Amino acid sequence: MKRLLFTIFLAMTIVSCKTDFTAQEREVIHAGDREIMYVLSIAEPEDSLQLREVCLPVSERMLQGEDYATLRRRMLATVQDPENEGVGIAAPQVGVLRRMVAVQRFDKEGEPFEFFLNPEIVERIGEKQSGGEGCLSVPEIRGDVERWQKIRLRYHDEQFAEREEIIEGFTAVIFQHELDHLDGRLFIDYIE
Ligand code: ZN
Repeated sequence: MKRLLFTIFLAMTIVSCKTDFTAQEREVIHAGDREIMYVLSIAEPEDSLQLREVCLPVSERMLQGEDYATLRRRMLATVQDPENEGVGIAAPQVGVLRRMVAVQRFDKEGEPFEFFLNPEIVERIGEKQSGGEGCLSVPEIRGDVERWQKIRLRYHDEQFAEREEIIEGFTAVIFQHELDHLDGRLFIDYIE
C-alpha cells in the first residue's frame, strides 16, 4: 500500500512538473521589486541568445496558478511602461520562453491589451504591405517590414478555449511581429 501511494505521488509530481512553470521560469516571473519586468535586449549578448529560442506551449494548468496571474499583470505593466512603451509584448521578451503574447487591439473599442496563448497564424490573406516597426528588445532601431494585411489567428484564450479570429490592419501587423518572437525571429531579420 505504501509503495502504491508512493508511486501515485511520484506520478503526480512528474505530471505537475510537466505542466507547471519551471522553477527557473518562476524565478523570472517573481524577480525584482518593481512591477515592470526587465526586458531582454539584443544589445546584451546573453539576452540576444534567449531572444532566438523557440518557445514552449502554455498548458491549461499553468493558467490556474498564481504564477500566470503575476506574469500576466507584470507583462501588462511592462508593455505600458511610459519610459519604454509598446503596442505588444511576447513572454520571451521578459525571459519566459512560453508561447504567450499581449497585443493592443487597435481594432476594438477602447484599444485594450489582450492576451493570447499558443497563437498561430493559420491563414495569410490578401497582400503584403510595408510599414515601420520597432521593438522593445531592439533599442534605437526602426525599419520597414512587409507584413500580411489580414491573418486568420488560432489561439487559446485565457480560459484555454480554442478560438479563431480574422484580424486585419495594424493589429494584424502587431500579431505577426509578436508571434515571430515565439519562434526566435526579430523584425530586424527582414529589414535591409
Ligand atoms: Zn518585438
